[in-house]
Amino acid sequence: MDTTTFDLLVIGGGSGGLAVAEKAAQFGKKVAIVESWKLGGTCVNNGCVPKKVMWYAANLAHAVDDAADFGIDVQRGSTDWRKLVQGREQYINNINKFWDGYVTDLGITFIAGHGHFIDHKVVEVGGHTYSAEHIVIATGGTPIVPPVPGAELGITSDGFFQLTEQPKRVAVIGGGYIGIELSGVLRALGSDVTLVTLDDRILNLFDPMISEILHDEMIKQGIDIHTDFQVTGLSQGENGIHVNSPDLDLNDFDQVIWAVGRRANTTSLKLENSGIQALKNGVIEVDEYENTNVEGIYAIGDITGRVQLTPVAIAAGRRLAERLFDNQPERKMDYENVPSVVFAHPPIATVGLTEQQALEKHCGISIYQSDFTPMRYALSDHGTTTALKLICAGKEEKVVGIHIIGESADEMMQGFAVAVKMGATKKDFDNTVAIHPGSAEELVTMKTPVKDHPCHEVDAGNEWKEVS
Ligand SMILES: Cc1cc2nc3c(=O)[nH]c(=O)nc-3n(C[C@H](O)[C@H](O)[C@H](O)COP(=O)(O)OP(=O)(O)OC[C@H]3O[C@@H](n4cnc5c(N)ncnc54)[C@H](O)[C@@H]3O)c2cc1C
Repeated sequence: MDTTTFDLLVIGGGSGGLAVAEKAAQFGKKVAIVESWKLGGTCVNNGCVPKKVMWYAANLAHAVDDAADFGIDVQRGSTDWRKLVQGREQYINNINKFWDGYVTDLGITFIAGHGHFIDHKVVEVGGHTYSAEHIVIATGGTPIVPPVPGAELGITSDGFFQLTEQPKRVAVIGGGYIGIELSGVLRALGSDVTLVTLDDRILNLFDPMISEILHDEMIKQGIDIHTDFQVTGLSQGENGIHVNSPDLDLNDFDQVIWAVGRRANTTSLKLENSGIQALKNGVIEVDEYENTNVEGIYAIGDITGRVQLTPVAIAAGRRLAERLFDNQPERKMDYENVPSVVFAHPPIATVGLTEQQALEKHCGISIYQSDFTPMRYALSDHGTTTALKLICAGKEEKVVGIHIIGESADEMMQGFAVAVKMGATKKDFDNTVAIHPGSAEELVTMKTPVKDHPCHEVDAGNEWKEVS
């Protein structure tokens, strides 16, 4: 069998794979991408992009509901789900077309099909073999369906994006960001939504302030939330699907959506032929330079099990190409202070450490916090809460965490993330003139800490003492 040789062979044409391939091609390298589905990967086809379109639709629905308070005479009718989905899919098709054309323009060879390893230098796709000095694995992940009875009665986020009819009654299983986002969209567009989570709070990896406020907001919107809820199976009843648990069954849903995490896509790669050792959950461990345990093979993006976000996969891919092909031997991704957003209603944005993480890492923490009803609801008899929390460390009060829930949080955070990345202190925030009227101004006008965790250290007599 003839083997075609490249400088770089990338398996997986999603966010990370496209980024590393693009950069390498721009450096004049001979590059190929293997993709079994559509260029763009999860984010474009089944993740960020379709999700954000649905979020915009949900936001518009909320805005129409509030319009009368501002004297605007509009009434919300039903949602034309088909039209929404058609428009969304057209938008995604255009992005796919862009990538197809752009990859060709860059001179990258596109190889359609599933890639698997023959050995540590050779990959087979559809009966042809390809080798490269450098091979990048960027095969992402797939939603997990837990092995419980009747699990197949439910769909996942992938299935959600295939729905051509709006479900009337939906149970979403999982209180992480995907479960939260899908619940918010469905409820805003008129579905009855029940959200269940195994944890004692929704978004349990986020600062508790965020979980508490979001929980209250979701209840106000009419979402039924069950925490500490262990799903033991799904069963088909006469009037719909039942979600079973030891204490309580929730009955009669048109759709049940599993949003309980994602598994790394390594099963079809035949990694054993390459010498790469993946963890039990499929994750490929890499060092800080994205090197796997086999020389010349790298892994980036969701497959590495670290911060699973598109800009992270892209940044890791670009930096890897710069290190390998642009003579920048120290270039690598910095996984600290990565900002992120949950497109909930209202949205959530966060960067840096939670209060608990800050306490574990730093000596002396001050917490500044502000909650209020934003002016968007000045003329309404209801409103969502906006809450902002600044976590500052040490005597110099370096800002090590920012957590926001509220209108426009999603757009607020990017600039503040630059400040945190640069090591800004509370004094830098105080010295910044506010933009008024707005919600973000609260971040530069907070006066007194709501909480101080003073610094303690062990003295010679092994007694805890406060350090001034
Ligand atoms: C519902 C949802 C919403 C999300 N929202 C956001 C968001 O708002 N913001 C954000 O930053 N991130 C979001 N994400 C996460 C984001 O989509 C991922 O972090 C990102 O896509 C990871 O990129 P990747 O390159 O690692 O993998 P992917 O984008 O998953 O790409 C992997 C590609 O590899 C291909 N592949 C797999 N195995 C093989 C094989 N053997 N041979 C050939 N090809 C193969 C797959 O078909 C796929 O196209 C969301 C994810 C989901 C599921």
